[in-house]
Amino acid sequence: MDKRDYYEVLGIDKSAGEGEVKKAYRQKAMKFHPDRNPGDSEAESKFKEATEAYEVLKDPQKRQTYDQFGHAGLSQGGGFGGGGFGFEGFDMADALRSFMRDFGGGFGFEDMFGGGRHRPNNRGRDQQVRIKLSLEEIASGVKKKIRVKQLVKCSECNGYGSAPGSSKNTCPQCKGAGQVRRITRSLFGQMVNVTTCDMCRGAGQIIATPCPVCHGDGRISDRTTVSVDIPAGVSEGNYIPIEGRGEAGQQGGPPGDLIVVVEEKDHDDFTRQDSHIVCQVSVSFLVAALGGTIEIPVIGGTSTLDIPSGTQTGKVFKLRGKGIPYLRRSGRGDQMIQVQVWTPKRLNENEKKILQQLQNSDSFKPPKSSKSFFSKLRETLGV
Ligand SMILES: [Zn+2]
Ligand SMILES: [Zn+2]
Repeated sequence: MDKRDYYEVLGIDKSAGEGEVKKAYRQKAMKFHPDRNPGDSEAESKFKEATEAYEVLKDPQKRQTYDQFGHAGLSQGGGFGGGGFGFEGFDMADALRSFMRDFGGGFGFEDMFGGGRHRPNNRGRDQQVRIKLSLEEIASGVKKKIRVKQLVKCSECNGYGSAPGSSKNTCPQCKGAGQVRRITRSLFGQMVNVTTCDMCRGAGQIIATPCPVCHGDGRISDRTTVSVDIPAGVSEGNYIPIEGRGEAGQQGGPPGDLIVVVEEKDHDDFTRQDSHIVCQVSVSFLVAALGGTIEIPVIGGTSTLDIPSGTQTGKVFKLRGKGIPYLRRSGRGDQMIQVQVWTPKRLNENEKKILQQLQNSDSFKPPKSSKSFFSKLRETLGV
């Protein structure tokens, strides 16, 4: 897919100053932030796109390169966070980190992704896993064990990549610096590029005898189990970062983070509206007319609800505090129960007779017009 112009992405002029870049990005990022658009993959890619544009335009050197050469000028080098400007590895975790670094806020990310932390070149990648939760689990909070297929530290060489007992040599290409300077000539003149040394991949040292198990990488592919504490009240699309549980770093590098993405299972009885839950129950028209007690579903079980006499179909009853706990404050949402008056489909002769006796009774004649129950439902739900 062709990349859009970064200025166009942020909706700013080519002459926009640093403050304008930041302001424009902040607006876009707030609009498309995954916390505000749970489960919306279009918002997710817009968030990433805006963050990428911001990363380039806020940096005078990158911006100059981009102004001169366009996207092509940025596509070389070691990827986001590395020595170069490339964005091949720019994923959601990177985008969130960029945003948190400059603007903070969100879901405990500030602590996890401290601003300006040095990220070595051989750091393992962040890894995303999705976790499906039932409404019951979301309501109570839950500790989950997730199986993750990932690159883990090789135990033979303890992650360093050297065969046990062997040592490392200083990289002959960069003399241990981990970076090399290259001068490239182009139509536009000379450019000096500092890039990560490709021989040692930035480590400054190379392995003399590679570990026989991981062949020098320091990592092997394996399945691991990670425990994650899901707080009560999460929603579809929420991210829970687990520091250091992503991919192991190459040759002793630090591990990436594991980003757990919440998915919500459909519930048989309830639909969720923020922290409220909504259900529909059928009542016989006898209960609706005479009043009575019915059984209703609640989270994690059943309860009873008193139906007053003269209840109309569509009437919504509210059980305060029986919904989902709020994520960032105490208390819970409500449970709404919408009553549907059920009409019998088959009647025997005797039943028909009894009802026919009531047919002309004034109490059984509906009024000419009544407020639609949808508007009543909206009123009750406050939507
Ligand atoms: Zn080197
Ligand atoms: Zn090894």
